Formats: sequence, structure tokens, C-alpha cells
Amino acid sequence: MTTRSDDFQEIEDETLSSWEVFDADNCSIMHRCSSLDPSTMDEATRTKMQLLTSIKNETGLDSQDYKCSRCNSFIGLIFGGYNVCNFDGCYYCSGCHDNGKFHVIPARLIHNWDSTEYAVCHENMKFLAMIKSEPLFDISKLNPSLYNTVPEMGEAKRLRLQMNQIKKYLSCCDDNDAVVAIERKILSRLYLWEDASVYSLQDLIEVSNGKLIEQLRSVVQLAMQHIKSCKRCWQKGYICELCRSEEVIFPFQLDLAITCPLCNSVYHQQCKKGIACRKCSRKTARALQEFQI
Ligand SMILES: [Zn+2]
Ligand SMILES: [Zn+2]
Ligand SMILES: [Zn+2]
Ligand SMILES: [Zn+2]
Repeated sequence: MTTRSDDFQEIEDETLSSWEVFDADNCSIMHRCSSLDPSTMDEATRTKMQLLTSIKNETGLDSQDYKCSRCNSFIGLIFGGYNVCNFDGCYYCSGCHDNGKFHVIPARLIHNWDSTEYAVCHENMKFLAMIKSEPLFDISKLNPSLYNTVPEMGEAKRLRLQMNQIKKYLSCCDDNDAVVAIERKILSRLYLWEDASVYSLQDLIEVSNGKLIEQLRSVVQLAMQHIKSCKRCWQKGYICELCRSEEVIFPFQLDLAITCPLCNSVYHQQCKKGIACRKCSRKTARALQEFQI
């Protein structure tokens, strides 16, 4: 039986370095290097990016000098009808916003878990469609209280933490066909394995309607079945050093096992209650002994 190898730590470090942090106002948006690179982004797109995480209210037609926010034609008063875009809080002429297109507003979903579709102008609809699948939102930074107040988000977090642990097994497995079949279950959204708190707008919408949870559950189930039946993965399981029972346990069994955050040893939760980690205690004792010599 092997214990967790150092390869696992290396895999974690690689994963982190492939992400960049983009600070917009008071919030952090994590994103992969893609078409949304902040260094090459124009001012209008940068403003829209900031609106993704802050709720914008109307400021009155006079703040726009009675002109459409996009085409500058006169609106309001005697000039003609206008509509408000719920994404940027701005006013638009009926040509630029006909009140006929509706979309979930990302900031309302992130801050109020409001998945209602609101009227959005044509241009902002295009922007929302462009960013919809990008893993932009780090919920642990933007609104971690969602994990406690929204049961679906708590469940999604738990499943993704399991996936994060499972990925370390799959990365070391030589049964390529099995690994590809498991990864294919979440199609192109491979980031779902990597960082448990990063979501795209599409993911958050799918958490709210239950679709993503269902998908993550089936991925975790399939991967767990593989690990239990694959010789190489199974060998990377752990034996609880506290009870020394023959049961092989895994760090992704979140109901059963607990992992020491310092040395990554895995124990039964029941056995570990109030007891110090054996491996860490041995390490401390050895260090003390060396100090006394
Ligand atoms: Zn217009
Ligand atoms: Zn395997
Ligand atoms: Zn035990
Ligand atoms: Zn330890």
C-alpha cells in the first residue's frame, strides 16, 4: 500500500499556475488565458466585465443627456420610446433594445441567487453569450456565503472537492480509455476538475436548475467505480493508521475519511476525532529528538 506520492503536489501546482487573477473594482475574477485577456481588452469590454459582478441600478435619463447609450439617438421626452437594460442599468432606443430579449443577470445570480431572466439590450445579450461558458467566477472570493445559504451550491462545492481529489488518481492512472470516458462526461468543462470554486455563468445557471449537480454526481459515481476496480488507482488508497482496519479508504470519501492538511495522511473520521495526526506527531517527536542531541 502506498501513501500519497509527491507527484500529487506537483499536479496541484501546475493547475494553479495556469490561472490568472483579474482584479475588477473590488472583486476578483479568475479566468483562463483566452479571448478575454485583460491586457488586450478594449475599454467597453472592460466596463462590461466589471458589471458581471456588480448590480447596476438606473441613474435617470438625464444622466445620459436623453440619448441612447449605444447609438446616441435622442430618447425620452418628446423624442420617443426607450427601454432599460437590466445588465448595465442604461437606457436604449427601441432599435437597440426592443425589450424582447431576456437573460439571467450574472451579478444578481451571484449576490442574490436570483436566476430570473430580465430584459437586456441587443449588445449586452451578445456580450453575455460570449462570456457565458468562460470560467470567470471564483465564488469563494465573490460570495462564499452562497455555499451555506443555497443548498445546491453547497452540494456543487462538495462534489467538486471530491472531483478535485479524484483527478489526482485519474492523472496517475494508465488506463487511458477509462480516464477519457470519465472526463468526457463533462465535455469541454475540464476546469470543473481543477478548482472547486470557479464557475462559468452557464455552470451557475445549471446549478440553479439542478442540471449540473446531476452531471457532477454521475461523473463522481463513474470515477469512484473506476478507482475501486482499477489496480493502479486502488493501490493509492490508504489504511487508517489509527484503527489499522483492512478497509482501504480514499480522501474523496468525504463522509467517511479525513485528510491531514499538513501531511495528507488519511484516517477514518470516527477514529480521528480529537486525536492528533500520527504521522505529524512522529515528525514532531523526531525533530525534538534531533534538537536534544
Ligand atoms: Zn439606439
Ligand atoms: Zn485507474
Ligand atoms: Zn480508522
Ligand atoms: Zn499529518
